[in-house]
Amino acid sequence: MGSVLIDTESCKGCGLCVSFCPKQVVRLGGGLNQLGYHTAEVVLGDAAKGCNACARCALMCPDAAITVYR
Ligand code: SF4
Ligand code: SF4
Repeated sequence: MGSVLIDTESCKGCGLCVSFCPKQVVRLGGGLNQLGYHTAEVVLGDAAKGCNACARCALMCPDAAITVYR
């Protein structure tokens, strides 16, 4: 199981991490960062435990906003 940390102030809300996560662990949230982007977030509850630490989200992020911990 992995865990994901998203630097929301670096996120531009492009949604690539959401598209490429095979486990639906990340989603675009309702909050805005200081630049006015709807940022990515980790889903709540047990679904977050589905993270397999594959790091696709981090690799796809054009702004290097995601860190994956194994
Ligand atoms: S590490 Fe893999 S499973 Fe975990 S949130 Fe990122 S893309 Fe999804
Ligand atoms: S890929 Fe990066 S910039 Fe795009 S929504 Fe995900 S965390 Fe934000």
